[in-house]
Amino acid sequence: MANVSVIGSGPAGCILAYALLGDGHDVTVYSDRTPAQWLNDSKPTGSNYLWASSIDIERELGMDHWSTNMMGGYGVLMDRSRFVGDPNPQVIQGLTEYGRRGCGIDMRMRVSRWLSDLESRGGRLVLETVTPARADRIAFDSDVTVLAAGKADLGRLIPRNEERSVFTKPQRHLAMGVVRSKSGRHVSEWFADRGEFLPQKFNFYADAGEFFWGPWMHKTAGDTFAWLLEARPGGVFDRFGDAQDGMEATEIFKEISREFAPWERHFIDDVEYVEEDPNGWLAGRFVPGVRRAFGRLPSGGLIMPVGDTAITFDPICGQGGNFANRSGKFLAEQITLNAGKSFDEEWMIKVNDLIWSFYGRNQCEYNNIFLQPLERAAQIVMESALHSSSAADELYYGLPHPESIVPALKDERAARAFAERHGVSGLVAAAG
Ligand SMILES: Cc1cc2nc3c(=O)[nH]c(=O)nc-3n(C[C@H](O)[C@H](O)[C@H](O)COP(=O)(O)OP(=O)(O)OC[C@H]3O[C@@H](n4cnc5c(N)ncnc54)[C@H](O)[C@@H]3O)c2cc1C
Repeated sequence: MANVSVIGSGPAGCILAYALLGDGHDVTVYSDRTPAQWLNDSKPTGSNYLWASSIDIERELGMDHWSTNMMGGYGVLMDRSRFVGDPNPQVIQGLTEYGRRGCGIDMRMRVSRWLSDLESRGGRLVLETVTPARADRIAFDSDVTVLAAGKADLGRLIPRNEERSVFTKPQRHLAMGVVRSKSGRHVSEWFADRGEFLPQKFNFYADAGEFFWGPWMHKTAGDTFAWLLEARPGGVFDRFGDAQDGMEATEIFKEISREFAPWERHFIDDVEYVEEDPNGWLAGRFVPGVRRAFGRLPSGGLIMPVGDTAITFDPICGQGGNFANRSGKFLAEQITLNAGKSFDEEWMIKVNDLIWSFYGRNQCEYNNIFLQPLERAAQIVMESALHSSSAADELYYGLPHPESIVPALKDERAARAFAERHGVSGLVAAAG
């Protein structure tokens, strides 16, 4: 069995650690904060909406203590405006994973519990902010060292993969916050007039950006929503630069929502920030990108990335947290398969390429398609989903399983075949 060091204690590091412990490895997790600090003093690193198949990973590893009680979303309801003020937004509604429930479960609560339980599972928790020099020492003493530090500066130990990284600038300026009902109504009522199931709610504006509502389980407030705003830099949604706290950011978001989604005004006055949680919000920006298979440290040790350190996704299609779970579990399986052999450069490149082929490439492509103006193929898929509920289900099944839909989103012939298969090629052709 291998002696594995995991630097960073977010979802990717914890999933990796638990999966390795299940396989009998010797695992140490280095965390810059205690379980109590994760719970009480930390911001979530994202809204982290997870689809059912990603929650399955936590269940398989005995890490899921919440999903039976989650409110959860069953699919997606998208209002797609071709421009700000579009009088007739297109409505594309469909199930995700054919109606299996996903949810954002407050990651601070998840990680805090996972770190508290780590030693009872056989792992070791070291509380320390790891520096580059310390990482060098850790890598020298371990069979495998994995960097799971999210977007933290320590990630620079592993070079960026320029061939796989498409962007050199942030594509959106981001803000998010957790909200509940002011009047005491159940938050699921906000969208009750829009269909038969509780959705993840998407509002797309081709020229301004996007905003989202995701069902959420807050650590103290319970059933809530996380709103996420993706502003095109310099555009009409780009208003969060001066927000000082979650209440202020939520008021800006409500103003945008009232102005650009007037059909949602009937519940917007009922929306309030979870005041008792000063950390339940974020505002900022970063450059999406991909890192190489490993970094080489001064003493000759190697360090390999997982989760956000491996691939930093813009949150537009909710890929990052789902990738954290998948890449964490997959990497653990690969370490187990290689136990007793050398964890050398060649092995790290092979594993990194596998993660890229199975998950990373398609997740990046799905995301990148929606970060940029839609090409004709993607337009055809969206038009098909507008006219056919089975096409909409297939489009949204692609969120957790991008490999199933990316070919049609990228290639016009595949997109036309998609329309044909769903019996709407005539309608799509008529729409031009
Ligand atoms: C606004 C926003 C919304 C998002 N929404 C979604 C969504 O709906 N669905 C989805 O799937 N994804 C979403 N994401 C992405 C998701 O939150 C991340 O991909 C996910 O949290 C990555 O997990 P991670 O474990 O790799 O990193 P992190 O969650 O960042 O955890 C890494 C942790 O490592 C620790 N650490 C860092 N440096 C050190 C150090 N030097 N020493 C010791 N410990 C250290 C810190 O505690 C840090 O928090 C969103 C992101 C953002 C910004």
